[in-house]
Amino acid sequence: MSGKRKILLINSIAIAIFILISMYPDKLQLYDKQDFVAFHMILEMVSIVISFSIFFIGWKLYSHSLSFLLLSITFLMVGSIDFFHTLSYLGMPHFIMDSSITKSIWLWVIARLFCALLVLLIFSIDDRRISKNIANFLLPLALLTVTSTVFIIYRFESGLPMMVIEGVGPTTLKNGIEYFISFIYLILFFLSYRYYKNKSDYYSINIFISLSLMVLSELNFTLYNSIYDIHNFYGHLLKAVAYFYILEAFYFATMEQRKKGHEKVITAKNELSGILSLQDGMIFKFQKEGDRFIHSLCEGELLEVLNIKKEWIIGKPLEAVRLPNLPEIMENYKLAWYGKRRLTYEITFKNRQLYVSLKPVLKEGKVIEVIGSMTDVTDLKAMEQAFINSEKLGVVGEMAAGVAHEIRNPLTTIKGFMQLMKKDAVDKHRTYFDLMLSEVDRLESITRDFMAIAKPQASHFKPASLSAIIDEVISFLNPQAVLKGIDIVFMDTSSNLFIKCDSNQLKQVLINLIKNAFEAMPKGGTIHIILTEEVSQLTLEIKDEGTGIPLEILESLGRPFLTTKKEGYGLGLMMSQKIIEAHNGKMRVASVLNSGTSFFITLPCLVRDDEHTS
Ligand code: ADP
Ligand code: MG
Repeated sequence: MSGKRKILLINSIAIAIFILISMYPDKLQLYDKQDFVAFHMILEMVSIVISFSIFFIGWKLYSHSLSFLLLSITFLMVGSIDFFHTLSYLGMPHFIMDSSITKSIWLWVIARLFCALLVLLIFSIDDRRISKNIANFLLPLALLTVTSTVFIIYRFESGLPMMVIEGVGPTTLKNGIEYFISFIYLILFFLSYRYYKNKSDYYSINIFISLSLMVLSELNFTLYNSIYDIHNFYGHLLKAVAYFYILEAFYFATMEQRKKGHEKVITAKNELSGILSLQDGMIFKFQKEGDRFIHSLCEGELLEVLNIKKEWIIGKPLEAVRLPNLPEIMENYKLAWYGKRRLTYEITFKNRQLYVSLKPVLKEGKVIEVIGSMTDVTDLKAMEQAFINSEKLGVVGEMAAGVAHEIRNPLTTIKGFMQLMKKDAVDKHRTYFDLMLSEVDRLESITRDFMAIAKPQASHFKPASLSAIIDEVISFLNPQAVLKGIDIVFMDTSSNLFIKCDSNQLKQVLINLIKNAFEAMPKGGTIHIILTEEVSQLTLEIKDEGTGIPLEILESLGRPFLTTKKEGYGLGLMMSQKIIEAHNGKMRVASVLNSGTSFFITLPCLVRDDEHTS
């Protein structure tokens, strides 16, 4: 039912009954007038129980909110005073106090006054969070007020002004107070209507209904002539119902909050598991149940990489998860659980290197669960290995450069003496000397090239002839090519244009590419190197007759550590690419499986003017 309909329905029923009993008070006198004490007690007890319930719920759940706390305490006071009002009601047996009209009416009026004034106070202050201390101070203050009020009325009953005169009806004082209370309720009625208009939540709807019923209830008390009247009965009934709606408001406010809290927890949970499932690695948890370790969580993208289903792990003991080295992992689980310490280890699973860390969660010194994380470190490990290797290579290269340097000195001596000896040699031996000298020349040039390549150098851009660089690289690699039964054919159609480059770096690129070509032609063949000239650029093609590159490799060519070779590092193409890019050039590849591969390198060349001025 919508809020508006609920308000309309309840208020119309209440008003209709009110009109009916006002029109036919005698016909609607449903009970024997003498039984009124019992009816009064039943109605009051219901409203007292409701009042105390409001207090308990409010105190338990809302003692941090000033308005809610005040409302709860108001009902504690109202319920308590109403209790004594009921006890002292005319016709009640002696219990704690004697029954008397003055006492019961005074207690009644004061309860109504407290209720009206305190609710007015609540409406006129802003709600705010308060500390538990304030609540703990207000509660005894309220109880003290109640006890002293009851005590004063009990003790000084005879001195109190008259409220009702037997047989005559309520005094002017009583009516005056009752009108005053009605007036306050009328104000509260409008305030609660405004509150309902602003909020229109379950809470404000109920508060508005409650206050409308209270206004009507008060109206009954200003109208009644004797306590046996149906108006009196109806006033009490309306009061109980009005209180009930406040209780309901409290109840629903609690439910709403709980629901909201619950929803928040659920969204937070969903979000968390979303985040967990998106993380690269894997997070898992296990607890010890009986003598087994049971997994209770398992989430992360690594599951997909390893092609594992969560269901194979969650709720399953460690023994049931098919893993290599299970005894070792079990040992680690035990260490984390019983040893209460964090530990890390590595496992290899489905060709992936996995780094696992276990962290026990302690509660009051006891391990309640262990949280584990798993990271795929395969690439990292490969990189580490490659670095170790390249480090080794670097050392070897440096040593080789040193050796080459050392060889050059004796070579110079040998060459010098050979030239001297050649002069005095007999004709027959002279040709031998020529041959020996040319071989020494070759040795010299090899050592020179070797040193140039092995020595790591900072890039140094200078104009140079690409043809000349290619020539040098070919003569450097030719001996190896001959051994492998490979011909290197260089076709140069360029007009010896210069490029601005670091010739050592370009040599490295050429060596990488030609070596790859060697390795792709284990049975030998021909490598064509074709240099062509375009508008302002040179294109170099290195074409082999090798195995070609499979599509899946071709797609990710140039990625570090991508290799199909046993002894390969998968760095050659990546470095070449980097060097060419640094030269403002481009590198691309075309390959046909089992037929051959061509690498194309395009480099900008210098304009001729440039070439002469530089
Ligand atoms: P590596 O030579 O150390 O493997 P590279 O980066 O030089 O590393 O080459 C990467 C991979 O590319 C090689 O392992 C090979 O599979 C493929 N590849 C490169 N060049 C060729 C070629 N000319 N013919 C066939 N495959 C090639
Ligand atoms: Mg290579």
